Amino acid sequence: MPDMLSIIIPLYNEEDNIEPLYAKLDTVLGSLGHPYEVILVNDGSTDDTRARIDAVAARDERVRVVHLRRNFGQTPAMMAGIDAARGDILIPMDGDLQNDPADIPKLLAKLDEGFDVVSGWRKDRKDNPIKRNLPSRMANALISFISGVHLHDYGCSLKAYRRDIIKGVKLYGEMHRFIPIHAAWQGARVTEVSVTHHPRIHGASKYGIERTLKVILDLMTVKFLDKYAQKPMYLFGGFGLASIALSMLFFVFMLYCKIFLNKSFIETPLPLAVVMFMLIGIVAVFMGLIAEILMRTYHESQDKPTYIVDCTRNCKD
Ligand code: UDP
Ligand code: MG
Repeated sequence: MPDMLSIIIPLYNEEDNIEPLYAKLDTVLGSLGHPYEVILVNDGSTDDTRARIDAVAARDERVRVVHLRRNFGQTPAMMAGIDAARGDILIPMDGDLQNDPADIPKLLAKLDEGFDVVSGWRKDRKDNPIKRNLPSRMANALISFISGVHLHDYGCSLKAYRRDIIKGVKLYGEMHRFIPIHAAWQGARVTEVSVTHHPRIHGASKYGIERTLKVILDLMTVKFLDKYAQKPMYLFGGFGLASIALSMLFFVFMLYCKIFLNKSFIETPLPLAVVMFMLIGIVAVFMGLIAEILMRTYHESQDKPTYIVDCTRNCKD
């Protein structure tokens, strides 16, 4: 039995894209020989999207629909789709026809080669060059550098995941783009293929340049969680100790100025620096302790292990 596919599509005010999108998906998926489902997530649209996807679902029961109460954003909408998915292979994509369903077989071929995650690369991206493509290119270079997982285009929605990789992943902010990184850090095999990108014909893009900033802030969170989530004290405490050491250095220098250069304490800003760095250092160490408590609460209250098992032998019960 070939793997079942779940195509996951968040939709926010895409009324005129629904029918052409469905027609394209139907043609491509129908010829693949995999059982499949299409999960359309209506992210609180205010246009006719709701009625139109309901109409499609009424015609074809492989189309499953999730309506969200209000507009939550692309990442939560994608998460809702992932939670509803029952397939072995999960394929998120945009619902505005900028991604092309015809690329799905290419992604599947890569999974067949043994990869766990295949990420689309919009080599010839058809968005506003100044407002979107340039900042995106810079953000991609930065993400690649910081994460050590080298892809060209993290932001492309069209990707394919084996189910066990994405199970248990929780998405926040703009973080759907970091799933391949997260997966690679946990030992998944990740690759990319170039995919077609079309200009938007119906409806309008929901994003501008401010998105790049959010992505960079998310990147900091992801990096922090990866490196220090299990030992936050190393980061906070390390910073705190460095600050206390600096304070002591200033203290010695202050005494030196007083005794050997005969400068009064109030003639230099040194006393201020001594107090400031000492306070910051102590507070940082205490924050580290609080973070340690939070981390233990997180793992122990939810019985979350601090490791991930790949497979075992003779270990059942
Ligand atoms: N989208 C969504 N909720 C939002 C914003 C966007 O579900 O709050 C969907 C949108 O309908 C589309 C996909 O996310 O299917 C990508 O959005 P868009 O085309 O605006 O992004 P861009 O291609 O400009 O990066
Ligand atoms: Mg788009």
